[in-house]
This record gives sequence, C-alpha cells and structure tokens, in this order.
Amino acid sequence: MDDCIFCKIIQGKIPSEKVYEDNEVLAFKDIQPAAPIHILVIPKKHIENILEVSPKDSDLIVKIFQTINKLAKDLGVEKDGFRIITNCGRDSGQEVMHLHFHLLAGKKMGPKIVS
Ligand code: AMP
Ligand code: ZN
Repeated sequence: MDDCIFCKIIQGKIPSEKVYEDNEVLAFKDIQPAAPIHILVIPKKHIENILEVSPKDSDLIVKIFQTINKLAKDLGVEKDGFRIITNCGRDSGQEVMHLHFHLLAGKKMGPKIVS
C-alpha cells in the first residue's frame, strides 16, 4: 500500500528500530512508547486489521504469535508478563490501518484496559 506508513517501514523508506525480521513478519519499537518495552509486531503483508484477516492468513497469524512468544523470551519478560493489544477501527482509536500487535511490558500494568 503506497500511503501506508508501516508498509513504508517494511520497505525501508521510513526508518525504524527493528527488533526482529523475517520474510513474513517485522517487529520494531513504537515511536511513542506507552511502557518501558513497547514493540509493534506486524505482518509484512498489508492487512488493514482483524476484520480483514481470512483463513488464508492462518499460518501468518500463527507466525505473528510465535514471534511475540520469542520476543517475550528474548526480552526476558516472559516471567513477569506482558500485554498484547490490537486496535480495530474508529472506536478503538486505530491510527495506522495496517494490522499490528502492541507488545507492552516492563512495568506493572494498570487493571483497566479501557479508559
Ligand atoms: P494504533 O493506535 O493501534 O493504530 O497504533 C499505532 C502506533 O504506531 C502508535 O502507538 C504510534 O506511536 C506508532 N507509530 C506511528 N508511527 C510510527 C513510526 N514511524 N515508527 C514507530 N511507531 C510508529
Ligand atoms: Zn501497510
């Protein structure tokens, strides 16, 4: 997608602090961290959000969750825990229309998911 900021990051047209990359998945640091560790895990394929995920993407979605699993261990937060958030659509506040999973860790999270 030409006007998608995350596609531009994948293509290297916009810089990012990458923490993991393979043929299908990219993980990089969020530019405005909401926690000491705030990483975005995205598919390289442009998918808008969960509403656009189809059965054809099942291997890709598993790969994303395997990446989150690996990152949690590599970052050493698997014991203390972490939070995964994916926003979908207007009411969620989704700003970037390219499927992404926020990996938040490094502090004790508040009890509220919705504010
Ligand atoms: P969402 O509100 O779920 O769409 O989240 C989009 C996230 O992308 C926000 O947390 C932004 O801080 C982050 N973001 C936007 N532009 C960049 C960028 N160039 N590099 C890294 N993170 C970004
Ligand atoms: Zn995109």
